[in-house]
Amino acid sequence: MRMIIASLVLLIVAACQPAPSGTAITNVTVIDAVNGVRENQTVVFAGDEITAVQGAQVELNVVETIDGTGKFLIPGLWDFHVHLSYDDNFTEAMPALFLSYGITSVRDTGGLMHKMLPIVEKMRGPDAIAPRVYFAGPLLDGRFVVYDGDGRPEIGVQNATPEQARETVRSLKEQGVDFIKIYEMVSPDIFQALVETANELDLPIDSHVPLSMRASTAGPSVDSMEHLRNIEMDCASNTPALHEERIERLKNPGNLSGADLRSSLHSLQRLPAIANYDEARCDQTLNALESTMQVPTLRLLAMSLTPPWQRADWDDALSRLPPAAAAPWLETTLERRANPPQEVDTTYGDWGLFMTGRAHAAGVPIGAGTDTPIGFAVPGYSLHSELEFLVRAGLSPLEALKSATLRPAEYFSLQNEMGTIDIGKRADMVLLDANPLIDIANIRAVVTVVTKGQSLTREELQAQLATNRE
Ligand SMILES: [Zn+2]
Repeated sequence: MRMIIASLVLLIVAACQPAPSGTAITNVTVIDAVNGVRENQTVVFAGDEITAVQGAQVELNVVETIDGTGKFLIPGLWDFHVHLSYDDNFTEAMPALFLSYGITSVRDTGGLMHKMLPIVEKMRGPDAIAPRVYFAGPLLDGRFVVYDGDGRPEIGVQNATPEQARETVRSLKEQGVDFIKIYEMVSPDIFQALVETANELDLPIDSHVPLSMRASTAGPSVDSMEHLRNIEMDCASNTPALHEERIERLKNPGNLSGADLRSSLHSLQRLPAIANYDEARCDQTLNALESTMQVPTLRLLAMSLTPPWQRADWDDALSRLPPAAAAPWLETTLERRANPPQEVDTTYGDWGLFMTGRAHAAGVPIGAGTDTPIGFAVPGYSLHSELEFLVRAGLSPLEALKSATLRPAEYFSLQNEMGTIDIGKRADMVLLDANPLIDIANIRAVVTVVTKGQSLTREELQAQLATNRE
């Protein structure tokens, strides 16, 4: 009789127990920018949602268990500045490359719509194994266009009048962009028209500081700025004179191309502006930027300090690229290693590190972006380098992680969905073999990546990459 009752109880218990679901990562150290460090945790996710974060000793009813003992779980990383359509040799390979390095979201800051829309559609497809993607469409330039397809890829468009600028933004919104990107050759009236229309349509704004404006004037109107570009001009003791000189030259009496006009101004003014750095004036500049995220792309700006080909794992990174993409970089690598330059001017790189640290100390939000694949940026790999540069500039490892997790989420008002490891957040996470807070370089120790609720081991990620190289 007792046996029968016991069996009945078991049956009832079994009947009440829901079918197992989801995946648990057990006994893991969880690290994120809001909760800090939580040891001995079990994190459960089901579909694209984190359903539990709790002490390790819990009853589990899951389909799969991943042993997180001795490992570290961080939110999925963002690369906040990429160009998916910049180089056809990279485009197809980029989603798998990003994921293999733990990048589960990307912000594309410039590409023509007819190229971007199919890329985005494919990456957002129901079965796609790809990072989440947020995109701006083309660089919104002024009367002169820098990226006009002549000698460099065509990723910019002209806005010759304020009316045209308004129409461009409306059309981009209709086509589904997530934000807009304003470029360097716009005049103040075009800038104003772009900003007003984006605000009306609730689109976040990314920008370079237009050469016709000052960082402290343009900055407060936009949500993020790239490369610290033209900030040096606003931090100089002779800012008004530099500004006047720029306005004169932007009239373009020599009829230069947009690209040449821009680079002639950079070469003329950048280093003199840095030489005339003025502490008090820079305080004013950074004050004006307190709510404008700066994406310094230090791995590009400060490349002179640590060129990628000097890194021990650079050859491995190149080997993961499609051969056509790797070939020119491999050639440069071999050439630079054989003939290292005797003297390298690191003024701009040093300034980039200094200004990033200074902006961060002044409370300016910092975002982690790379500009991949421009300038030797292996997709995914380069974001790890960027995080190392951010720590070198003065951010703590946890603050560097914040710049690649919570900050980007905040930019798109997604902080309730992404950026930390909490119940209800989307299931984008990276499991590491080593502690990134001890050394940010440990960000490279990726074991497993969870993307949109799907977990992929290092081997599975490698297999994805292999299909790129066939
Ligand atoms: Zn860019």
